[in-house]
Amino acid sequence: MTISRRISRQVSVGNVRIGGDAPISIQSMLNVKTVDVDGCLKQIERLCDVGCDLIRLAVPDEDSAVAFGKIAKRCGLPLIADVHYSYKLAHLALDNGAKKLRMNPGNMPDLTQIKPLAQHMADLSVPVRVGVNGGSLDPKFAGMPQDRALVESALECANAFESAGFHDIVIAIKHSDPLVNISANRMLAASCNYPLHIGVTEAGTLRSGLIKSAIGVSALLSEGIGDTVRVSLAADVTEEVLAAKRILCTLGLRKGAEVVACPTCARTEIDVAGLANEIELLTAKVDVPLKISVLGCPLNGIGEGKHSDIGVAGGKEISVLLEDGNIMGTVRNSELMDRLKALIAKKCAE
Ligand code: SF4
Repeated sequence: MTISRRISRQVSVGNVRIGGDAPISIQSMLNVKTVDVDGCLKQIERLCDVGCDLIRLAVPDEDSAVAFGKIAKRCGLPLIADVHYSYKLAHLALDNGAKKLRMNPGNMPDLTQIKPLAQHMADLSVPVRVGVNGGSLDPKFAGMPQDRALVESALECANAFESAGFHDIVIAIKHSDPLVNISANRMLAASCNYPLHIGVTEAGTLRSGLIKSAIGVSALLSEGIGDTVRVSLAADVTEEVLAAKRILCTLGLRKGAEVVACPTCARTEIDVAGLANEIELLTAKVDVPLKISVLGCPLNGIGEGKHSDIGVAGGKEISVLLEDGNIMGTVRNSELMDRLKALIAKKCAE
């Protein structure tokens, strides 16, 4: 079963397209200080290693805008500048290489400043992300149901740029309640043709945040809504990207590796979780369908491996390896990871 995606306009963030027929992009946000140029570059490298498409950095002051420029020059990915409360900083971020601005006119009350900013963005072909989070909703919308209030507020933000003749807009509505999030984004999707950035805001820790995000994001994606995704987690930034990729792959919206692992039991002979986690990281950037099963014993491992491209059925010192459902032979556990790496590389090259 395939999902048919909502038809939306397309914008370009550097060499990454959002909306239209572009693949749904995965984004994350750095959580080190932007003035820490080396720290940011290290985090960006880690995000690239797991397949992040777009990275956002906060630009809270002029020093950060200057640092943003240094980072942008040394970074291979298009960077998004997150700016609030200051048009001056928005212009500075553009001058320092921002390929997209995230800002909300609601935080920047002098709307006469929108037109020159929109002109600056148009000159550089840089789009804007506007929208609203549940926690920062303008009080004037307080009387409305929350989902409707979020939509009205987001469309008002977009309208501020439309009035300046600027249409390279991505809209984001986010709420920490996945059900409000779903309802609001459904309404928004039906109300405009702008590309939508989706995610559940303030989702929480790795455990609860993943569950909330999976609910709030997957429901929308399964209806064809969403052109770029961030899974916001209070966890290591790479977890956001790994989670987003897994959601997209599970829904058939991206191709990638799927690691199947057994829950383990008294028969388990190998470190199933450790091996499965290692393989997940190793295959994070794989962009072809590849099913790898890691099972803790030969009892079920060989059977499960028959449905996978690559399978491991763990044994005490020696494990069974399977390829395309057939037993390839056995391998010492000390050599297991190296053999798996070679097999994965072979499969990806086929
Ligand atoms: S595959 Fe083997 S080790 Fe894993 S849960 Fe099943 S019986 Fe236990």
